[in-house]
Amino acid sequence: MRLSMYDTASREVQEIAPGKDSISMYCCGPTVYRDAHVGNLRTFILSDLIQRTLKLQGSTVKLIQNITDVGHMADDVTVEDKVLQQAKKENIDPFEIARKYEAKFHYDLALLNIEPAAAYPRASETIDLMQKMISTLIENSFAYVGSDSNVYFSVKSFTSYGAISGNRIDSLQPGHRYEYTDEGGKLFHADWALWKSAGERTQMIWDSPWGPGFPGWHIECSAMSMDLLDNHVDIHVGGIDLRFPHHENERAQSNATTQSESVALWVHGEHLLFEGRKMSKSAGNVILLSDITARGIDPLALRLVTQENRYRSQMDLTWDSIESASITLKRWHKKMELWGSSLIVKKDEEIFLSLMNDLDTPRAIQRMRIIERDVTMSDEMKRAIFLYANQVLALGLEVSKSFLVLPENCEALLAEREIARSSKDWARSDALRDELAELGILVSDTSQGQEWDFL
Ligand code: AMP
Ligand code: ZN
Repeated sequence: MRLSMYDTASREVQEIAPGKDSISMYCCGPTVYRDAHVGNLRTFILSDLIQRTLKLQGSTVKLIQNITDVGHMADDVTVEDKVLQQAKKENIDPFEIARKYEAKFHYDLALLNIEPAAAYPRASETIDLMQKMISTLIENSFAYVGSDSNVYFSVKSFTSYGAISGNRIDSLQPGHRYEYTDEGGKLFHADWALWKSAGERTQMIWDSPWGPGFPGWHIECSAMSMDLLDNHVDIHVGGIDLRFPHHENERAQSNATTQSESVALWVHGEHLLFEGRKMSKSAGNVILLSDITARGIDPLALRLVTQENRYRSQMDLTWDSIESASITLKRWHKKMELWGSSLIVKKDEEIFLSLMNDLDTPRAIQRMRIIERDVTMSDEMKRAIFLYANQVLALGLEVSKSFLVLPENCEALLAEREIARSSKDWARSDALRDELAELGILVSDTSQGQEWDFL
């Protein structure tokens, strides 16, 4: 049994790279002009879950994640590069902006136990790869130089355009919001720029066979993935908003260059809302990881609550759900201490199958809750299975939080109380609670079982 996931292009759940031990993976990375919000982080956690699950099944993974530090234009209202726009706002060099937010991105990833990718190529440092790909596309008549000196991909030259999103060429309306007003020199309204002429722009521009300029956003992912993953990606990951036009255009560019189906499986994570609404600066509800830690909450509570939702469903994050995940995580840390110190890991078939089945993390977590309450299972076994799940869920359960160590005797009293509760012996359970209180331990009964804290 190996990992199968929902492929947006075929609309089917498919096994990833059947028969292959070594798997190539690409995840669209951040545009580094601001902090990643919890929605972006949900998508990066998804990528980590996939990488960890593939490793759990015994595969090796080569993951590439790009850093977009140039070329991602602010849509709709302005045509300015997002990084340049922010550089103006903060009054510092655009590369300084890019490096600052790139460092913050890595910091957030580390706090969330996200395993590093094999490489994080920067768009600004792979301009040569993009120019090489653009030249090949022009040579093979998939691209042309427009009357405005921009280089465009000719969408009509690529007959299977629309395979991922279902947006076929003839159904694309002129004036779609992804069309930029500076792209006036193209032959067909749905063509997109691979290389943009510098025009008035003086920062973040490079020489090219088509004059000084800068790359379009979509070409960077094609150039990096095809070069660093030997012209074939087994699994490609990104948020659902990237399905069109970003991934559709990426597929066209990569397939036209390699003359093959360059990506075997397209996985899209659904979006995260906060308290029922799309996060946006104007609504003032953009939540960062630092907002969570500022409340004294373990960042891994975000990881837990995210994984309690299936990646293919839209998720509504709330402060209540983060706090409830934080309570569960604290309790699990305490339990791991109570259950011993062994490092033995034991495979649990249900957790394994849940993960392999299109990453059913909510089911895997549900299984952990059942194991936690199981009065017939030994503590050693519980700990070993939690350590097994932790290899993928990455909740830091392997780390001993020694400040949480219970006073002597309390472990046994808590265990006895759990047994009393499960056999509905309320009198005994109350007496044990009083006894524990005298020893400085506060016991409370929640919907998720018995919890303790220091009085
Ligand atoms: P960006 O930094 O804007 O290029 O986005 C980085 C990643 O976050 C992309 O894969 C996006 O699809 C994803 N993303 C953006 N907004 C959300 C959201 N609200 N929920 C989940 N993923 C998101
Ligand atoms: Zn991308």
